[in-house]
Amino acid sequence: MKPFRHINATTIDGAASLLAEYKGKAKLMAGGTDLLGELKDRILPAYPEALINIKTVPGLEYIREEGGVLQIGALTKIQDIANSGVVKGNYALLAQAAHAVSSPHIRRMGTLGGNLCQDVRCWYFRASALVGDPFYCLKKGGKTCFAVAGDNRYHAILGGKGCFALCPSDTAMALAALDATIVTNKRRIPIADFFKVLHNALVADEIVTEVQVPKPKSGAKQLFTKFGLRKALDFAVVSVATVISVEAGKVAEARIVLGGVSPIPFRAIEAESAIIGNVINEATAEAAGAAAVKHATPLSNNAYKIQITKTLVKRAILS
Ligand SMILES: Cc1cc2nc3c(=O)[nH]c(=O)nc-3n(C[C@H](O)[C@H](O)[C@H](O)COP(=O)(O)OP(=O)(O)OC[C@H]3O[C@@H](n4cnc5c(N)ncnc54)[C@H](O)[C@@H]3O)c2cc1C
Repeated sequence: MKPFRHINATTIDGAASLLAEYKGKAKLMAGGTDLLGELKDRILPAYPEALINIKTVPGLEYIREEGGVLQIGALTKIQDIANSGVVKGNYALLAQAAHAVSSPHIRRMGTLGGNLCQDVRCWYFRASALVGDPFYCLKKGGKTCFAVAGDNRYHAILGGKGCFALCPSDTAMALAALDATIVTNKRRIPIADFFKVLHNALVADEIVTEVQVPKPKSGAKQLFTKFGLRKALDFAVVSVATVISVEAGKVAEARIVLGGVSPIPFRAIEAESAIIGNVINEATAEAAGAAAVKHATPLSNNAYKIQITKTLVKRAILS
C-alpha cells in the first residue's frame, strides 16, 4: 500500500469537516472490507491522502424499533442485522439479505453503511494497477464502459445507462423492497433516490448515519432469494427481494426489487402490477416473471440472466 494518514474521528461532524478539509482526497473507512482491498490493489483513480476511520465514533451501532420504524445505526455489523430478533421478526427480508452477504468473517467486520456505499465489482473497474494499465472507465472519469464491447457476463441487463456495473449490495435490495430511508448528517434520502448509475447520492462531506425502515403490513410475505455461482462469498448473479401482502385471497400490495441485473436496485413495477389484485397461482407468478424482464436489453454475454430473473421472480411469488 502507499502511505496515507489514518485519522480516528470521534464525531460525525468532525469526520465531515475532515472530508471537507481534504477536498475529495480523503476516504471514510468503516469496516474496511471493501476500501482496504481497493487500496491494496490500487483500484481507485486517485490514491487517498487520508483515511478517516469512523469506527471510533461512538453511538452509531444499534438496532431498535420505535413508533413502527426500525432504526439501524450505520456502523451496525451486517452479522448483527442477520442475527437480530427484531429484524428477523418484522423485517425478515432484511435479515435474510444480511445473511446472504459474503462470509461470516466479512459480515462480522462489514457495516450496513459500508455495505450500501461499497464500490461496484465490475472487473474493468476493479482491474489492479499493479498488474497492468488500469481501465479508465466511466466510473473513473473516463469516456468508456469497457463491458459494452468486452466480457459482460456479469453486467446489467436493465437500466444500464453508459455504465453497466451492478449495484453489489444485497442489503440494498431488501431495503429498497422495504421502502427504507437513508439518514445522513445532512438530510433524509428515500432509498429510491440514493443509488445512481455512476455514484450514490452522497455529496463530498456527507456521511450515512442511520437507516430507517417502516414496518411492513402485518402478515406480509417477505423473501430474499439470491442466485450466485457459489453459496457463500459471492455476489448475486441475480437476486429478488419481495414484500407481498394478500387480503381476501388476492394480492393487495407488492414490492419486487431485482438485484444483480442493474446499476441500481431495480424496482420491477410491471411485475408488481401483474400480481396486484390477482390470486397468486402458477399463471400469475409466471406472468410477473415475464413482466420483470420486459424491458431487459442484455449485452452480448448476459442474456442468460433473463431466464434466471424470470424463474427467481416466479419462485419468490409462489413460495
Ligand atoms: C470476498 C467478498 C465477498 C463479498 N460478497 C458480498 C455479497 O455477497 N453481498 C454483498 O452485499 N456484499 C458483499 N461483499 C461486500 C462487503 O459486504 C462489503 O465489503 C462491506 O459491506 C463493506 O462494509 P465496510 O463497513 O467494511 O465498508 P468499508 O470498506 O469501510 O467502506 C466501503 C465504502 O463505503 C464508504 N462508507 C463506509 N461507511 C460509510 C458511511 N457511513 N457513510 C458514507 N460512506 C461510507 C467508504 O468510504 C468506502 O467507500 C463482499 C466483499 C468481499 C471482500
